[in-house]
Amino acid sequence: MVERRTVTSSRRDVLIVGAGVSGMTTAVRLAEDPSRPRVHVLAQHRPERSTSAAAGAIWDPIYANHDDVPRWSAQTYEVLCALHRAGRPEVRLVDGVEASRHPITSPVWATALPGFRECAPAELPPGFCSGWCYRAPIVDMPSYLRYLERRLMAAGTVVSPTRLESLDEALDAARVVVNCSGIGARDLVPDPEVVPVRGQLVAVRNPGVSQFFAEHTDELDEMTYLLPQGEVLLLGGSADKDIDDPVPDPAVARGIIERCAGVVPAVAHAQVLGHRVGIRPQRERVRVERIDAGDGHVLVHNYGHSGAGVSLSWGCAETVAHLLSGVL
Ligand SMILES: Cc1cc2nc3c(=O)[nH]c(=O)nc-3n(C[C@H](O)[C@H](O)[C@H](O)COP(=O)(O)OP(=O)(O)OC[C@H]3O[C@@H](n4cnc5c(N)ncnc54)[C@H](O)[C@@H]3O)c2cc1C
Repeated sequence: MVERRTVTSSRRDVLIVGAGVSGMTTAVRLAEDPSRPRVHVLAQHRPERSTSAAAGAIWDPIYANHDDVPRWSAQTYEVLCALHRAGRPEVRLVDGVEASRHPITSPVWATALPGFRECAPAELPPGFCSGWCYRAPIVDMPSYLRYLERRLMAAGTVVSPTRLESLDEALDAARVVVNCSGIGARDLVPDPEVVPVRGQLVAVRNPGVSQFFAEHTDELDEMTYLLPQGEVLLLGGSADKDIDDPVPDPAVARGIIERCAGVVPAVAHAQVLGHRVGIRPQRERVRVERIDAGDGHVLVHNYGHSGAGVSLSWGCAETVAHLLSGVL
């Protein structure tokens, strides 16, 4: 057992490390719990500078691995739909097509979704041979993270800007710590299984696209997707393993626009509004796990969501709350 410094926090305090979608959602879930624990959030970067702020972000469970992905993604789908029904402008419900360049059958998770049907070949863009239609939540991440922060503030919690060198620092400050540090977990845990996968998007003025298009692929380096968000159309994407350079690459942006113009030709001449880059916390398996950290301290990990952190966020937060029941 590790001997820990005596902490001044009460038994009901919980410290969340990280203010991306995993940390913010977990913090909201815990801060709004009827048992009302005191929740603190600490992060090197504010939410708008996290990887989460760069995400597209369409609900799509395929880019992360864990036996609980079906449950986590279904729970998140429900919450996002409820936010949409409640009139939250940050969450849209959009019809669209997911398609593959290789013949595949529709995955089980898709067949259960509203609006599901197999696409006729004539509905698919050039180069694609299998596809299905469904309705998915698409989240405007910068606004959505601001919305989560407002909910957190209403529950009495603010995000404190602090960089940690190790999780021991957090465990010295609080009896209960939830690690939602994304790619930061590689050094903080430390966990060499977490690897950076750089992703880039281009935001253009929407030339009238109202349906999403998402490529279904296992080949990670280049994928093609178009995600309408009102006046803005987000074009993707890229996935470059072992690269953590946050600066947009003009050649990658040109490739994205070219591929997306193959799906919607008007995109080729759309006005470019901006570029987004984020570093996905790629891991063979998402890690949501409770650890006895010694001397009565509890550490819960919630990281390694790869390319699906938004799609799993509410489900993973629910599991964290479950792992902490009886502790807070
Ligand atoms: C281009 C792109 C498109 C994507 N599209 C989608 C999509 O359509 N749908 C989807 O579901 N997912 C998508 N993703 C994946 C999704 O963005 C990630 O899975 C998700 O953002 C991970 O969230 P997180 O909160 O775990 O990590 P992050 O958002 O990276 O947040 C980590 C937090 O931890 C903090 N931190 C790290 N190290 C330290 C430290 N040492 N001390 C203190 N704080 C620290 C950071 O400052 C940050 O606040 C996309 C990603 C990219 C890059």
